Amino acid sequence: PLDLLQFFADLIEQERETTGDRHELIFQITGHTQGFWGDRGLLQQIFINLMSNAIKYSPDGGTVEFHLIGKESEVIFYIQDRGIGIPIKDQENLFQSFCRGSNVDTIPGTGLGLAIAKGCVELHGGDITLFSEVGQGTKVTVSLPKVFPIDQLSPSST
Ligand code: ATP
Ligand code: MG
Repeated sequence: PLDLLQFFADLIEQERETTGDRHELIFQITGHTQGFWGDRGLLQQIFINLMSNAIKYSPDGGTVEFHLIGKESEVIFYIQDRGIGIPIKDQENLFQSFCRGSNVDTIPGTGLGLAIAKGCVELHGGDITLFSEVGQGTKVTVSLPKVFPIDQLSPSST
């Protein structure tokens, strides 16, 4: 199984190195995190896409929190920022490729990060949900079963 504590601690450490002290990153893991057989590459892609959004759409000095809660048969994690938020009318389309919020103005992006993250979560048999308020911040929650549903990768399941 994957050691989630070590895995995410390493990723957070990498983020801290690249963001420097422009953002405060809070990192917390609780619960039963053993027995996770998920895919390293998928998990890393999900984390990086969500974390880069949280940082990109928050002002300097903003706080970004990462929390992971280990349950019996799944792990749940969320990334919460205190950034610009997303207008309600834009929220339902953001998981589609090339969709961007109407309030991102000059902040560059292609609109692929969330679509890719969702694809990775689904390959893993999990769920991704987003909660956001303009001017308050955004929280993206991911839940993944601890045992990777390998059959989802085989053509026979489609
Ligand atoms: P990229 O392909 O480089 O990730 P992107 O960040 O624009 O470009 P997504 O990550 O898919 O694309 O996000 C889609 C849109 O959702 C963003 O353009 C932005 O409007 C909104 N969004 C996503 N995450 C956040 C966040 N944490 N705070 C505010 N807006 C966000
Ligand atoms: Mg993005």
